Amino acid sequence: HKPGENPQINPKLMKEHLKRTGGKVVTRFPPEPNGYLHIGHSKAININFGYAKAHNGITYLRYDDTNPEAEEGEYFDAILDTVKWLGFEPYKVTYSSDHFQRLYELAVELIKKDKAYVCMCTPEEMKEHRGGEQKGPRSDCIHRNRPIKESLEEFEKMKNGKYPEGVATLRMKMDMQNPNPQFWDLVAYRVLYTPHHRTGKDWCIYPTYDYTHCLCDSFEDITHSMCTTEFQLSRESYYWLVDALEVYKPVQWEYGRLSLTNTVLSKRKLNTLVTDRHVNGWDDPRLYTIASIRRRGFTPEAVNAFVRELGVTTANTVIPVERLENYVRNHLNDIAPRLFLLTEPLKLTITNVDPSFTLDCVINAKVSNSDKDRVLKFSRTIYIDASDFKESEDPNFYRLSPGKSVGLLSVPYPITCTGFKKDKNGKIVEVTAFYETIAQIKPKTYIQWLSDANSVNVETRLYDKLFLHANPQSKEEVPNGWLSDLNPNSLEIIKNAKIESSIADKPVGFKFQAVRVGYFCIDKDSAKNHLVINRTVTLKEDNKK
Ligand code: ATP
Ligand code: MG
Ligand code: MG
Repeated sequence: HKPGENPQINPKLMKEHLKRTGGKVVTRFPPEPNGYLHIGHSKAININFGYAKAHNGITYLRYDDTNPEAEEGEYFDAILDTVKWLGFEPYKVTYSSDHFQRLYELAVELIKKDKAYVCMCTPEEMKEHRGGEQKGPRSDCIHRNRPIKESLEEFEKMKNGKYPEGVATLRMKMDMQNPNPQFWDLVAYRVLYTPHHRTGKDWCIYPTYDYTHCLCDSFEDITHSMCTTEFQLSRESYYWLVDALEVYKPVQWEYGRLSLTNTVLSKRKLNTLVTDRHVNGWDDPRLYTIASIRRRGFTPEAVNAFVRELGVTTANTVIPVERLENYVRNHLNDIAPRLFLLTEPLKLTITNVDPSFTLDCVINAKVSNSDKDRVLKFSRTIYIDASDFKESEDPNFYRLSPGKSVGLLSVPYPITCTGFKKDKNGKIVEVTAFYETIAQIKPKTYIQWLSDANSVNVETRLYDKLFLHANPQSKEEVPNGWLSDLNPNSLEIIKNAKIESSIADKPVGFKFQAVRVGYFCIDKDSAKNHLVINRTVTLKEDNKK
């Protein structure tokens, strides 16, 4: 269904509810700044920003920064950058930590209402009271019914640094007998001495997600609190807390998480890959962080079209990565200018022209008005791609072979192979050919070519799937754990490819179609005399190279 038709939203309730904001839809995208955003988040971003946009509403970007141990400044910047790259502008950037004082005051109020208490249970005792591993009977701990006054004093002590970490927590007094585990007296506050990215050492108690999330939604008058389905059980505890405190009550609704085949998305796993150097940083083009796919040459238009097509259902889906690649390919086909690239240059000498011979060949750049036609100088020595030559007779091979002809793109007449040379290792190092000057010969195929005058060396990086199995996290597919499934050949680096020299003045991120090879872009590792390109996607779904 379309946004707005979600059956979880009772229209009468929603109407009532929208009074608060004067009918305006208010959503938020609330990432925890503990890593880079990934393709799954682009779904969340599209849903939150897209829904609000479709209803003339507004969307906050809220950093859910309640865990100082996992947060780093780098992540905050990368998150905002990503949201903007996808084409969305937050109405306002907020932080859960903006509300630490108010959250604290409400916690005091909650204690006064006898709806929270300070608990001294160890994590093991807490687990035991919640029924333990065996999911046995649940029971109240001795702290649960301590006097309000005592909890107020203890909470004050927690706040004033009188307890080391892990000794005391503030717990919500919910319902230990409710079948929903989200009612088993969730922890609202814990003691942590790690300085906070924004509030420094002001606090040594930090609110949990369960306590913070719904209240920040409430403070910001969020009308539609949209989250992924693993929070379905949390919906009731979310409502429990806003009701307990009698504050404005947003409506929560859930949608399915997006996963892709042959990769992992959770920030914790990504962190492991980065920290243990299985990949080269959070923006390694083999990952599906937004920074990675951006660097690899994916466009925001393609990413947004892909997630929009997925729709908003509650199903948790594992989408074949090829489907995303198709969106990228289709968009690049429309916008990317064409260039010649030879991943394995092979020298070719035209024996029937003088060393001084040159012929200007106009390459039609085709795609956008700003791309000018280019001139490649055809001369006695040129390069073709080694894969376009075969020394042995093969009736199914329509490119260059001894005695056979092939067309050179943008060159008036075809060439016919007259011979080839090998080095002492048996590697073909040069092909000789004849330039035909009559139009009788109709080549079956045209291939790309370059000459020394028109080409530069380029380091070419080809990427394959980072994991061998579609579901690296599945115990059945990968019994030895997801890290055992890393593809040892996920990155292939070609040092001495050749590309048209017209690329030299293009900026990092420049996207193009390498004719007959694939879609590429200039990588940020490029230096003045060292150009590096990434293969974004292959030309067709099934070819590897
Ligand atoms: P991860 O486990 O990957 O870190 P998360 O849910 O902990 O994900 P948050 O930063 O807390 O990440 O998420 C911000 C928002 O993005 C949340 O509303 C979350 O539900 C949503 N989100 C996260 N991952 C996905 C996904 N794979 N598909 C759709 N939405 C997602
Ligand atoms: Mg999280
Ligand atoms: Mg998580």
